[in-house]
Formats: sequence, C-alpha cells, structure tokens
Amino acid sequence: ALMITDECINCDVCEPECPNGAIYQGEEIYEIDPNKCTECVGHFDEPQCQQVCPVDCIPLDPKHEETKDQLMAKFLKLTGKA
Ligand code: SF4
Ligand code: SF4
Repeated sequence: ALMITDECINCDVCEPECPNGAIYQGEEIYEIDPNKCTECVGHFDEPQCQQVCPVDCIPLDPKHEETKDQLMAKFLKLTGKA
C-alpha cells in the first residue's frame, strides 16, 4: 500500500482518482486505507494518486509492503472476483 505523509496540503485531487476508494479525509490530512490500496494493481499501470499529487507526498508505506501477487489478490477480493 501507499501512504500519505504530513506534507499533504489537503488539495483533494487524489481522493476522486482512487479506483478503490482507499483515500479519505483524515483528522488533519488525507489518509490511505491500506486494506483498500492495491497500489492501483488491477486497475492502472501506475498509482493514480501519485500521478496527480502536486507535492509528491505519497510514498510506499514501509509498514505495508506487498508483492504484486499480494496486491492482485487484494484487488480480486475487493472486486469480488476472488
Ligand atoms: Fe488508490 Fe491507487 Fe493511490 Fe492506492 S495507489 S491509494 S489504490 S489511487
Ligand atoms: Fe494531499 Fe497530495 Fe492528496 Fe493533495 S493530492 S490531498 S497534497 S496527498
């Protein structure tokens, strides 16, 4: 999964781009639900939130490192295809 750092400026452009609905407004900044973030695997070649973030504050989450296979399995589960 990816994560949003405290450099987030709450610009709101990433939230509607997420195909999994993983991004939400947290208490202070936007946050990513690691259970829903597939790093866009299954939907797009590149993480869509990273593409649009103007301050480049969406790195990989070191607490939720996953392989492509794990991300694909998450995608299949989320979409009811597993
Ligand atoms: Fe959503 Fe993709 Fe960003 Fe994960 S990488 S939060 S699935 S847009
Ligand atoms: Fe924050 Fe970047 Fe999302 Fe804007 S696009 S809300 S700066 S994480």
